[in-house]
Amino acid sequence: MVYLGYRRAQVAHPLDGLGYLATRDASRAISGAQFCSTMFEGRAPAGHVSISCYVGGARNPELAQLPASDMAHLVHEELSGVLGIKGAPVLTRVRHWARGLPQYNLGHLERRNTLESANDRVPGLILTGNYLHGVSIANCLASARAAAEKAHRLLQERDTPSHQDARPAQKPAGSSRPGRIRRLLRGT
Ligand SMILES: Cc1cc2nc3c(=O)[nH]c(=O)nc-3n(C[C@H](O)[C@H](O)[C@H](O)COP(=O)(O)OP(=O)(O)OC[C@H]3O[C@@H](n4cnc5c(N)ncnc54)[C@H](O)[C@@H]3O)c2cc1C
Repeated sequence: MVYLGYRRAQVAHPLDGLGYLATRDASRAISGAQFCSTMFEGRAPAGHVSISCYVGGARNPELAQLPASDMAHLVHEELSGVLGIKGAPVLTRVRHWARGLPQYNLGHLERRNTLESANDRVPGLILTGNYLHGVSIANCLASARAAAEKAHRLLQERDTPSHQDARPAQKPAGSSRPGRIRRLLRGT
């Protein structure tokens, strides 16, 4: 990921959107860019703009291996053509993410069903994350909430008298770690 800052006057494009996604094109390195200073306040000082660019991923994994200086140069050159930028960036940051986002390939639904039914095979194992229902933050929050609710239901079921009767005698509530965790989840 290459994060670039420019003086506003350097960039001809109005940056009046969230950014852009590039089509598959062997001549392009940038797969997408976000106009961070348009999207959020405080992402660039007055009179400046900031842009995040994505390189590599499943399409071009080898590009993600480039040294930071080469990657920054490549991205700045390409972005200059797309957005009409004159001159060098005033700020450059490169961050390598070793593992890209999960790819939802053929067979994903079967894999997801297997993962989501893990609790049937290993009681108490409940999975969440960007490899299940989508990679966006919104998807991940929804997935995490569903997992938390599942865990809550599971603990409630274990707490019901009929379920407890079927189990061997336990230490009094409060003395065991599961008891403390249950109370924390209940907020009591
Ligand atoms: C560069 C980049 C830009 C992105 N931009 C956007 C965007 O603009 N909008 C959007 O919606 N989404 C975006 N995404 C996608 C989104 O951010 C991710 O899909 C999402 O954050 C993943 O959430 P997660 O909870 O699955 O994983 P993570 O957020 O990675 O959380 C996993 C957590 O588990 C911890 N962990 C790992 N191993 C262990 C261990 N053994 N023990 C304890 N803890 C552990 C990690 O430290 C981490 O805190 C972006 C992703 C990337 C990589």
